[in-house]
Amino acid sequence: MKAFANLSPATLAEAVELLGAARANGEIAYPAGGGSDLLGMVKDELVAAPDSIVDLKRIPGLDSIRVSDSGTAIGGLVTVDTLAGDEGIRLRYPVLAEAAAAVGTPQLKNTGTIAGNVCQRPWCWYFRQGFDCLKRGGDQCYSVIGENQQHAIFGGGPSFIVHPSDTANALVALDAEFQVAGPNGERRVPASEFFVLPRDNLQRENVLDADELLVGISLPASQAGRNGAYRKVMDREAWTHAVVSVALTLDMDGDVCRDACIVLGGVAPIPWRVSAAEDVLHGQGITAELAQQAADTALEGAQPLAKNGYKVTMARALVRRSVLEVSGTA
Ligand SMILES: Cc1cc2nc3c(=O)[nH]c(=O)nc-3n(C[C@H](O)[C@H](O)[C@H](O)COP(=O)(O)OP(=O)(O)OC[C@H]3O[C@@H](n4cnc5c(N)ncnc54)[C@H](O)[C@@H]3O)c2cc1C
Ligand code: SF4
Repeated sequence: MKAFANLSPATLAEAVELLGAARANGEIAYPAGGGSDLLGMVKDELVAAPDSIVDLKRIPGLDSIRVSDSGTAIGGLVTVDTLAGDEGIRLRYPVLAEAAAAVGTPQLKNTGTIAGNVCQRPWCWYFRQGFDCLKRGGDQCYSVIGENQQHAIFGGGPSFIVHPSDTANALVALDAEFQVAGPNGERRVPASEFFVLPRDNLQRENVLDADELLVGISLPASQAGRNGAYRKVMDREAWTHAVVSVALTLDMDGDVCRDACIVLGGVAPIPWRVSAAEDVLHGQGITAELAQQAADTALEGAQPLAKNGYKVTMARALVRRSVLEVSGTA
């Protein structure tokens, strides 16, 4: 493995400057939060060997959560574990607390930051085993005719990765806004526009440039009556990403659904919002039949590969069950 410099900027401006300077010099620099994903990829030579890693952990002020009646601000360096356990988040945004709690293992939650979790690279087994596939600059996607059990049923092509982050699905369901710092200052990106499909950018999974950082996340004020949940199916009990998942929020007035947001995880290269299924619920009293109708609608248009048709059935059941549970109809 090539030696690299480990840089520890003391301010955000310095971090952005270090990333920009590396880019300007034709060098490779990666930002690191907890490093739990990045360092493994560097060691296994799954990404281009870096000249430097810009460790963000010493930058003050990025590791706090501020919950208030007018909205919530989450620093990019807040650990997944802190997010899962924060009382304000658990009370006001249960879908996010549950998604954070569902991440990997206690060790990963303690180490991983929310920004790193959202920006983690794909876990397609070909990519992680070092195959020279499209994502790594090669000329084919091995999953198309290979082992595609874990791959996308929506939004795939030319790569069929699924987005691996549990928290990303919840953040889209909550209409979060991402705060991005770069050489031209700060910009705000809605979570729904942050993630990109492979057909739009094959090399990256989000809109960040190489010298931009995800530094914070804003959540709108939580509304009385809005409940939520994150449900995840895995191929084993723990320590792993979702085979399929659902991030769901429902705004209920008694039995009647005023508003709904349904985001599927594990099925597409980005958190996959299913607005047509939400429309089925709007203004209606929730019944088992309506939940089934929403679930059927959510999976309309799925295009499974040869070995992942089971995801359609699984996701449909998960949507139905989640709607009934969150609405209190189950
Ligand atoms: C066995 C195993 C099981 C796992 N299971 C799950 C799971 O069930 N659910 C789940 O969601 N995840 C899972 N993960 C992934 C794990 O949660 C991530 O590795 C972790 O959250 C990444 O956080 P980090 O801060 O360590 O990121 P890092 O390793 O520091 O960074 C990850 C990536 O994001 C970039 N990055 C980091 N911070 C920033 C920033 N502020 N701005 C821009 N880019 C940044 C890095 O350059 C790198 O490309 C699993 C991982 C393993 C190894
Ligand atoms: S799905 Fe994407 S990451 Fe996996 S083999 Fe195909 S191109 Fe590579």
